[in-house]
Amino acid sequence: MRINDERLHRHFEALSRIGATDQQGIDRPALSAVDIQARTWLQQRIETAGLEYRMDAAGNQSALLTGRQPDGPRLLLGSHLDSVPNGGRFDGALGVLAAVEVLHTLSENNYAGDIVLEAVNFTDEEGSHVGLLGSRAMLGQLAAEDLANPFLGRRAFEAGLQRLGLNPDDLFAARRSPSQLAAYLEVHIEQGPVLAEAGDAIGIVTGIVGIRRQTFTFQGMANHAGTTPMDRRRDAGRAAATFAVSAWQTVAQAYRDCVINIGDMRYHPGSFNVVPAAVAVDLEMRAADETRLKALHQQLLAVAQAQASACDSTLACGPHEHLGPVAMDEGLQALLTQAAQELGLRYRKMASGAGHDAQSFATVCPAAMIFVPSAGGVSHCPQEFSEWQDCLNGVELLLQAVIAFSAHQ
Ligand SMILES: [Zn+2]
Repeated sequence: MRINDERLHRHFEALSRIGATDQQGIDRPALSAVDIQARTWLQQRIETAGLEYRMDAAGNQSALLTGRQPDGPRLLLGSHLDSVPNGGRFDGALGVLAAVEVLHTLSENNYAGDIVLEAVNFTDEEGSHVGLLGSRAMLGQLAAEDLANPFLGRRAFEAGLQRLGLNPDDLFAARRSPSQLAAYLEVHIEQGPVLAEAGDAIGIVTGIVGIRRQTFTFQGMANHAGTTPMDRRRDAGRAAATFAVSAWQTVAQAYRDCVINIGDMRYHPGSFNVVPAAVAVDLEMRAADETRLKALHQQLLAVAQAQASACDSTLACGPHEHLGPVAMDEGLQALLTQAAQELGLRYRKMASGAGHDAQSFATVCPAAMIFVPSAGGVSHCPQEFSEWQDCLNGVELLLQAVIAFSAHQ
């Protein structure tokens, strides 16, 4: 049994036109008018395939394929149709199309397994309003406080939900019983350069990195920028700048398995002619290994403290946000490995540096992900590109994995 390449490609091209930008990118933020257009397209795609269509209280759209047992455990295949502003055509879209195509193919081949197959388009994976909204709502991982401060404000969020006929108070009703979930599988572009540079066809994801975020505020003293001698300044700007350089060196030298990002620095009072009194530095750290992530965090705190002292400043640390790494299921990884070998696809095991709906599932049921190469390793931009053969390989692997999974239940 193989995927219908022509049909999959045709659907990819059609979907790529919804929210298309001048530079061949996609601008399809969750719950926007364009997102609704993509959702309508998907519903038609599902219904034309003869699959059962549903949408839950969180706006997650599903295609269902039932075999011998209509109430059997479910294998979910999913991703997201929403994009970041001015994003790419492949991120998320490939995974949703893959999931529906796999169900369509199995349906044409008179699927008669014991598990129910469900292809899902999750609401707002990218966090235009609330990150991983749909998958978290489905798994009961959404709290009322998560909805209090949507990224674009509460009014925009409610207006978006209204476009779908949804009510914010009802989102929690999307919750499913974990006992119903047999497993979760997702195809996604890598969004990094590893597979393409190594010439590998497939990435079998071992886990999704943990993230720590904290704002470090260096405090010095505001003073006249013309009359204060250089050696007499308590310059918070100098402390922040030397910290940024030292943090970069620390990771390059001793934490090659981690990444950091200083995404913003805010100067106070922020003027040409005033020595900065305070600089707030937004630091994010990611690693697949929790112990290493914690060690890096401690090390960077020490580096920040040392740079503050060296610049006659002090350090104040904001509360830190912490999302632990999640491991993908070993059994599913083994199943994907075998399927990749049987298809003759060169694969590598790798961690995902980006967050995905799969991380919501990993704590509830066995979950795994298939990565396909990203040309140039770029993503979340119009230049995002994957060779079609690479995309097709990922979808073929998903199909074979689903067949193997349902045979072993
Ligand atoms: Zn994505």
